[in-house]
Amino acid sequence: MAIWNWERSDPGTTPPDRTTDDADLRLRALVRRDQLEAVRRSVLRAIPVNMLLGLASALVAFHSGNGRVGAVWYAASTAVNLVRFCLCRAACPGLALRTDMPLGMAAAASHSVDVHLRACTVVAFLSGLVWAFQPLLCEGYTSAQSLFYLSVTCGITAGAVTHGTAYARIPLSFILLPLMSVALCLLLTGEFDRCCLAACVVLYLLALSRTALEGEAGFREASRLKNDATALARSRAEAHASANALVDEMRRRATHDDLTGLLNRAGFIQQAEDRLRSGTACLLLLDLDGFKSVNDVYGHKTGDRVLVEVANRVRATLPPAGLAGRLGGDEFAVLYDPSATGIPYTTLATGLIAAVAQPFDSFDAGRLGVSIGVHAETESSLMDMLSFADEALYASKAAGRNSFRLFDTGLRDRLEMRRDLERDLSQALMEGALEVWFQPIYALDARTLVGLEALVRWQHPRLGWIAPPDLIAAAAMAGVTESLLRFILDQVCRMMQILRVQGLGTVRVAMNVSPREMAQIPVDEIVIGRLDALDLPPAMLEIEITEETALDVGAVQGKLQALSRAGIRVALDDFGIGYSSLSSLRQLRADRIKIDRSFVTGLGTCDDKRGLVLAVLGLGRLLGLEVVAEGVESAEDLHMLQAMGCPFLQGYHLGRPMPVQALEGTLFAARTKAA
Ligand code: C2E
Ligand code: MG
Ligand code: MG
Repeated sequence: MAIWNWERSDPGTTPPDRTTDDADLRLRALVRRDQLEAVRRSVLRAIPVNMLLGLASALVAFHSGNGRVGAVWYAASTAVNLVRFCLCRAACPGLALRTDMPLGMAAAASHSVDVHLRACTVVAFLSGLVWAFQPLLCEGYTSAQSLFYLSVTCGITAGAVTHGTAYARIPLSFILLPLMSVALCLLLTGEFDRCCLAACVVLYLLALSRTALEGEAGFREASRLKNDATALARSRAEAHASANALVDEMRRRATHDDLTGLLNRAGFIQQAEDRLRSGTACLLLLDLDGFKSVNDVYGHKTGDRVLVEVANRVRATLPPAGLAGRLGGDEFAVLYDPSATGIPYTTLATGLIAAVAQPFDSFDAGRLGVSIGVHAETESSLMDMLSFADEALYASKAAGRNSFRLFDTGLRDRLEMRRDLERDLSQALMEGALEVWFQPIYALDARTLVGLEALVRWQHPRLGWIAPPDLIAAAAMAGVTESLLRFILDQVCRMMQILRVQGLGTVRVAMNVSPREMAQIPVDEIVIGRLDALDLPPAMLEIEITEETALDVGAVQGKLQALSRAGIRVALDDFGIGYSSLSSLRQLRADRIKIDRSFVTGLGTCDDKRGLVLAVLGLGRLLGLEVVAEGVESAEDLHMLQAMGCPFLQGYHLGRPMPVQALEGTLFAARTKAA
């Protein structure tokens, strides 16, 4: 490497250690560049002086009758000065050397500096050579003009050293020959005082050499310090810039979603809060319909592509100055100012639904849609806006895919009710304010009691009777799902004990377990453990699950297997309204199907219902599953079902859900019949 060779050949500097790092090498090259710059400056300044002194020497020679030699000498001196001038003006790529250059370029630049310095040294030597011929103008310092020439030679050599501190080899090359020629000529005269003067000239030469070398060392040190400081300042600036860039990148990552590039939840909340402080805003929460199936059927890679594409479409549909974010999973959010943009939320929501519904160019993602919840009033708290829009989204989802719903007073009341429920439920559970009622299930004859379905009941002091699905949802929000399940199980077990005591051990008690309970709680362990502890026969218990449970088969299959192995029966509730498939019946290990009451109530007036009930009865016979018809509300329903041969019947016409005390009559009748 040129820079390495150059450094090693440089006298007065120690060869760099092989381990010297790149920065060190660059620093040395920069010092050398500074030397060349200083050399060029000093030579350009010295040339006029050199020319003037040369002219004076030639004039004195002319005046003393030595004009021809003087003219030749002056011509030679001028020629060398011309070369020196051109050399100082010649382009040198090395002068553009910078600390941040790649090492290869820095080495090449440094090499060119080296070449220029060498050339300057050679020309300085030639100039010195010309000045060494001055004795020709004064007969070897014996003529009357000797004093003039001696003074000029000493002066010009002293000047060369004084101005040439940057690079010692140039002044040394210049002064060596003139001073040696002075000393030699003086010695040759043989006169004592001239010989002494010759010795003084040699001494003078040595002193000047030392000064030149010391000057260069000083120059190099000063240059090193300057470049060091510059490099340090630059690297500090770079470090500062890269630290800033890192902070920016970390901030970006903290506020943006890696996959889609949209704001993430934290980023969206942060920016949305800023917007809320300064103006009106409308919030839209988007949740994809059918995205889970995309992931399940086409895989996560396709799922990711869908999310990226949806994000692009949301971005493209976004009103000016609108904010878009991915809050997580397949949930997106948009915040914009309807008054500033003149775009009503209905237009935007319709546009977003249409954008998502477009087929995907490069891949098939099945039927994808989006449900949107809108909150159109600016609230002081973004969190309130998010939960209101979420409520609207929930309602929109319930209404079916590809729809939007505004958060209105109806939803506000519902939300407030849910919040009240959440707040009061734990207390109610602890105080025993909840009850479990039981509804009878009969055999085909409508008189033989075969089962009881446990149904939770809660009369809220202010809101009245709470629908069980709302209660179950509130329990999940309040984090008391497991306590509620344990409470209901205890009541179910108490009922089983009552039945056993009354000799009705064949009557089965059914308990509903929601998909969320099934997925999140170790239902199998809790139920089996409780039956064990109370020494109750598992065959007396039935767990009712809905078809939605099958949507998360992975999370529930093991639990259902355990329940089934323990001898507990599983019934598939509300059959017909979900996405039942034969495989889900098998996966859920169902022993029984309960036809949803919407197909049973008013059976006599609707052929479709009749067809479906007949089909389910046929399916039950085929697969060896028991079939229960729910919602038998009238004698007509009952007779139709009996005519169709439906083996089990449940409904208001046969018996309403009732508290344990009110069951006395039903159980008495059952006992009497059994007897
Ligand atoms: P489900 O399991 O299908 O329960 C039957 C529902 O239909 C009960 O409503 C019952 O009162 C009602 N019903 C029974 N016969 C008739 C009839 O002839 N006509 C009409 N119109 N309705 C009838 P309920 O008690 O309001 O429960 C609704 C749903 O709440 C239940 O549907 C069940 O999914 C859920 N649920 C009830 N109790 C519990 C519980 O303890 N735990 C869980 N996880 N869910 C429960
Ligand atoms: Mg049920
Ligand atoms: Mg049902």
